[in-house]
Amino acid sequence: MQQIKVTLSDSEIPRQWYNIQADLKKPLDPPLHPGTGQPLGPQDLTPIFPMALIEQEMSPKQFWEIPDEVLQVYALWRPTPLQRALRLEKALGTPARIYFKNESVSPAGSHKPNTAVPQAYYNHLAGIKRIATETGAGQWGSAMSLATNFFGIKCTVYMVRVSYDQKPYRKSMITTWGAEIYPSPSEHTNAGRAALAADPDTPGSLGLAISEAVEDAATHDDTNYSLGSVLNHVCMHQTVIGEETLKQLKVIGEKADVVIGCIGGGSNFAGLAFPFLREKMAGMEVKVVAVEPASCPTVTKGVYAYDFGDTAHMAPIIKMHTLGHTFIPPGIHAGGLRYHGMAPLVSRLTEDGLIEPIAVPQMECFESGVLFARTEGIVPAPESTHAIRGAVEEALKAKEEGKEKVIVFNLSGHGHFDMSAYDAYFAGQLSNYHYPESMVQAALKNLPQVG
Ligand SMILES: *Cc1c(COP(=O)(O)O)cnc(C)c1O
Repeated sequence: MQQIKVTLSDSEIPRQWYNIQADLKKPLDPPLHPGTGQPLGPQDLTPIFPMALIEQEMSPKQFWEIPDEVLQVYALWRPTPLQRALRLEKALGTPARIYFKNESVSPAGSHKPNTAVPQAYYNHLAGIKRIATETGAGQWGSAMSLATNFFGIKCTVYMVRVSYDQKPYRKSMITTWGAEIYPSPSEHTNAGRAALAADPDTPGSLGLAISEAVEDAATHDDTNYSLGSVLNHVCMHQTVIGEETLKQLKVIGEKADVVIGCIGGGSNFAGLAFPFLREKMAGMEVKVVAVEPASCPTVTKGVYAYDFGDTAHMAPIIKMHTLGHTFIPPGIHAGGLRYHGMAPLVSRLTEDGLIEPIAVPQMECFESGVLFARTEGIVPAPESTHAIRGAVEEALKAKEEGKEKVIVFNLSGHGHFDMSAYDAYFAGQLSNYHYPESMVQAALKNLPQVG
């Protein structure tokens, strides 16, 4: 029998997060105040974040100790297995060896608790009583509800209306772990009320839900905001994924030739890829591929510029790849990949030539996702099918070239709450959206004139 899973023991959970800011050729461009356009200092962020996270966000320190309280929660599902996709390889007839890091085994079903847990912990330490946050497809809301529950603080989730209606069981899960949840736009905030006044039937958007959560946090002393992707500290918390993967590959004497992740805001990709990029900068030969949806091609088609992180201009202005903060992406089923911007770190590392971005259409992703479900048994999240598609394309290339190759991708989550998307696919109701070029061009006219 051939080995399928590479598992590590509890004692091998990484003890440190890796901060790739330490290894950039020049520091990131500073975030700017949404009102004044001036660089933000740590003090400007204290109304919505605890100082411990602000320090992690802005510091160039290379490694950060993971607190014991956080490790103890990580141990509920970490280390996650690295698995060989042997049956997928056979189905593709490829000489490549395909491995996937299985982040779907967390209680919430994705990589997101890796950052939700430390975020809840540091807020609890700072005496915060409630977290306000947004969720698109529902994964982040689930993760934050889970994490705040462990540290005894409350949680309010603003869930993008269209997903709230499409995914009732995400709402049930969020409620089970103790959070309160509102469809966004809601009547609870000025940003929400204004959006409803403009269009009572709006499906909502992630940018708008962020505005609601930031406003809630900024207007309540005991409440902080928390973001599940994009920010530097979020990417850093996720690096436990890549650190474990490096160890696991070493255990079986393998070396990755290609590392692949899907990108929405960039965090699960960063989690797997950043430790590999550290090794790449130190001389390791590895190709690092970020896969985004063709209908929301932030990195492959967007501009690298300062833009608002949200619709209502509450969140900081950051330098990143963006399609424009007023752009509302088509309603593809990979809800977690429908964001106009990208993590500043992923954007910069792409500009520096260390990451190769590609865009893939939704139908090809579902096709590869179904193949993965039928060969490996796991029904992937629609977001994760983008990484699978990237891996399949690499494996087919290896077949054409007749070359052995080691491909590692991140399975960021399972799709158990996304079955209506699979239903739609099998019913022939899905299609590929064309890249909405004119809408993007219009949105790019609204970039702030700063920097
Ligand atoms: C949220 C989510 C994503 C996209 O977010 P990133 O920050 O880009 O990782 C991808 N996959 C799953 C399963 C998610 O829940």
